[in-house]
Amino acid sequence: MSIPALDMKAPYRELKPELDAAYARFMESGWYVLGEETRAFETEYAAYCGVGHCVGVSNGLDALHLALRAFGIGPGDEVIVPSNTYIATWLAVTYAGATLIPVEPDRNTFNIDPARIESAVTPRTRAIMPVHLYGQPADMDPIMEIADRHGLKVIEDNAQAQGARYKGRRTGGLGHAAAHSFYPGKNLGAMGEAGAVTTSDPAIAEKIRVLRNYGSQVKYHNQYKGYNNRIDELQAAFLRVKLGHLDVWNLRRQQRARQYLEGLRDCANIVLPPVPDWAQPVWHQFVIRLADRDAVQQRLTAAGTGTLVHYPIPPHLSQAYADLGWGRGAFPIAEEMAATVLSLPMGPHLSSDDAAKVVEALHG
Ligand SMILES: *Cc1c(COP(=O)(O)O)cnc(C)c1O
Repeated sequence: MSIPALDMKAPYRELKPELDAAYARFMESGWYVLGEETRAFETEYAAYCGVGHCVGVSNGLDALHLALRAFGIGPGDEVIVPSNTYIATWLAVTYAGATLIPVEPDRNTFNIDPARIESAVTPRTRAIMPVHLYGQPADMDPIMEIADRHGLKVIEDNAQAQGARYKGRRTGGLGHAAAHSFYPGKNLGAMGEAGAVTTSDPAIAEKIRVLRNYGSQVKYHNQYKGYNNRIDELQAAFLRVKLGHLDVWNLRRQQRARQYLEGLRDCANIVLPPVPDWAQPVWHQFVIRLADRDAVQQRLTAAGTGTLVHYPIPPHLSQAYADLGWGRGAFPIAEEMAATVLSLPMGPHLSSDDAAKVVEALHG
């Protein structure tokens, strides 16, 4: 591909001296799990999200799962999730033993439609898990209002939106807790697996701190049947370096997104992602919709432009969830998204020239 969907080598090329120094510091420290790098990253990332607490964990899925566990959500409890999301959001609820209640997205924003949430609430509902999909914040105010009215917890899935803002406030600090993934391709990516939970609730932070480490606060004294969901010191060290560049890298994504939005405005066959005036997205993906998606994708591939589909199969139609019996037609908006979405090349290292070439290819 002459223009890759995402350039995975460029981050190291840009930050080599800083990342190499972090690696050397880590190697010489003689301390490899849950140490000074983790503590420093947690402090720095909590401040970035505008919350009191951050707990570094093994990955984003575990972060979602630990947040559910910390709120005591388990078998018999219902959790409202988007029908249109990456399957990890659903798997976390399944891990916790709770029941999935999918709610359809707003066609315009891809995100969970707040107007559809209330009718999904039952006496068993315990939590809502909005996802800031593609780096676009979900409409949190009405979600928090519904949660307050029914005594529900809101756990943000902020895996794709580090640095995004909703009405001026950073995602990851809007709900009762938020789960973050630092998978390498995310906006804030480690050089391996990592994740975190942020929250303003000190008791929840403390419970997650204990649960991630075998349920023990004092070595060999286990309060809970916990997990090994610890974050590596090496990843925390790398994340501290990359956090220092996140805002600038997000700004570059925003510049490329503006280029796409302007350049593709006159393409009658393309539905562009709308940006509500309260949203400051960070464009984890730039996703267009097309009736003839597969043909356009093939044409771009032949021209050397890499694109991706996030996601070709909605969770309810994946084989993994066949047991729940939701067939085709159960969540038609999520299905329509899966059939029409196309992610254009995007990332902090996509050049303005390459974005212009993508725009040109889409006109062809
Ligand atoms: C990546 C992602 C996750 C899971 O993160 P991992 O670190 O891969 O476990 C969860 N939810 C969403 C929306 C994601 O994009």
